[in-house]
Amino acid sequence: MRLYHDSAFDFSRPVPSYWEDTAPPLSFEPQTCAGARQADVAIIGAGYTGLTAALLLCRDHGMNVAVLDAGRPGWGASGRNGGFCSPAAAKLPYSAMIRRHGIDETRIFFSALRHSVEHVREFLSTHEVDAEATEGGDLRLAHKPSRVAELRHEAEFMNATFGVDQRFMGADELAERGHAGPHFHAGLIDPEAFGLHPLKYLRGLAEAAYRAGATLFAGSEVTGWQVAGGRHILKTAHGEVSARKVLLATNGYTPEGTAPWVDGRLMPALSRIMVTRAITGEEQSAQGWNVTLPAHDTRDLLHYFRLLPDGRFLFGGRGGVDASPAGMARSQANLRATFERLFPHWAHIQSDYAWSGFVCLTRPLTPYAGPLGDADGAYGALAWHGNGVAMSGYTGRLMAGVIAGRKGASEAIPAIMRQPLPRFALAPLRRLMLGAIYVAADLRDNWG
Ligand SMILES: Cc1cc2nc3c(=O)[nH]c(=O)nc-3n(C[C@H](O)[C@H](O)[C@H](O)COP(=O)(O)OP(=O)(O)OC[C@H]3O[C@@H](n4cnc5c(N)ncnc54)[C@H](O)[C@@H]3O)c2cc1C
Repeated sequence: MRLYHDSAFDFSRPVPSYWEDTAPPLSFEPQTCAGARQADVAIIGAGYTGLTAALLLCRDHGMNVAVLDAGRPGWGASGRNGGFCSPAAAKLPYSAMIRRHGIDETRIFFSALRHSVEHVREFLSTHEVDAEATEGGDLRLAHKPSRVAELRHEAEFMNATFGVDQRFMGADELAERGHAGPHFHAGLIDPEAFGLHPLKYLRGLAEAAYRAGATLFAGSEVTGWQVAGGRHILKTAHGEVSARKVLLATNGYTPEGTAPWVDGRLMPALSRIMVTRAITGEEQSAQGWNVTLPAHDTRDLLHYFRLLPDGRFLFGGRGGVDASPAGMARSQANLRATFERLFPHWAHIQSDYAWSGFVCLTRPLTPYAGPLGDADGAYGALAWHGNGVAMSGYTGRLMAGVIAGRKGASEAIPAIMRQPLPRFALAPLRRLMLGAIYVAADLRDNWG
């Protein structure tokens, strides 16, 4: 059962995207799961989370690992995101996190976020994956004058609380540095972050996991999950995998009804992207935007954008709550109109690509990593809250330690991520509730 329209779950082909057109293909062909198979660990979902866990379980712990994906590796968000690799994975503001969990736990969580960015850099360098990294940090932009003071305060708060080095810039400095726009009133640079080609990173991971000995199954949607005799039996259309342990790594694509421990506890949300044709140097100067630093704004329903290394411009935002073809077309038209409003000198530049995908939220607005309910040997790692390029793989690494039974591995996961996942009130109505939340957020963004 799915909360959104079926057309968003056509696993039979990759979602056409700029990334698909520019990433080298895999050097191997993943199999379809057929017949009865055995593994030490079965992983559901071949995104950054699942593949990183698979790589380390095989390489560092000598385990026999089967990764099952309904599509091909990277079919989900990992193959189609914006490529912002930043220290983020929660929607809960830090001030609220400190009130709820205390300053020490919040600092531990934040430190994991920073390590997660370093983890990706290290993976790309060790495995010699050229994912077109654009270094220099990322930029948060005040989308209206009333948010300037908020950004200035945020810089002071982040630097004092977490010992980071975020830097506030006024509108003049922004323009001098190539980030001009009629709706950008100040900026905050976080030097830790970087941009990357998400599918090149994903395929690098898939290659590494495969070489380490993981079996990758594509076109193998898990439609049933039984626990019997200390083993987990995962059913697909043509076969099954029996494993002692399972990691659920399906994030925004988690089906309802297959893993009862997460039913009603996750909120998938649509994110949408368009990519323009290459913008010439002259056109970049006309707009005053000519650097590849990834940027996003201070809206609750934020827009994110980046000039890609080949001169194309990626522009993204929330994708509404209607995933039907008509709903998708409407949200694409809205996104295009917003792009033209924020970048008026580029209003004539056509978009060559447009696509969308699911991110995943929870009720406490923090991610989850740990055991699933009381099912012995069942684990989950999900809910990166619209981020996850960095934190999903890093958590996959932490979960490999937990699943392999390494001493102290559970405690290495920040306690904030180990809190039990509560159910949403009126869970079947989650999509409608999200729609109402969007209306309120939109009012705040525009009038607040
Ligand atoms: C449009 C968009 C833009 C984004 N931009 C950014 C960004 O710039 N920066 C950032 O940090 N984050 C971004 N994100 C979020 C980020 O991409 C995700 O948090 C991250 O990729 C999650 O990785 P994952 O491995 O946990 O899940 P996913 O990559 O989503 O993988 C889950 C996999 O599970 C599979 N699956 C689901 N159900 C089953 C089943 N029953 N059986 C078998 N397989 C199944 C799916 O096919 C899918 O491949 C974006 C997401 C989207 C959609």
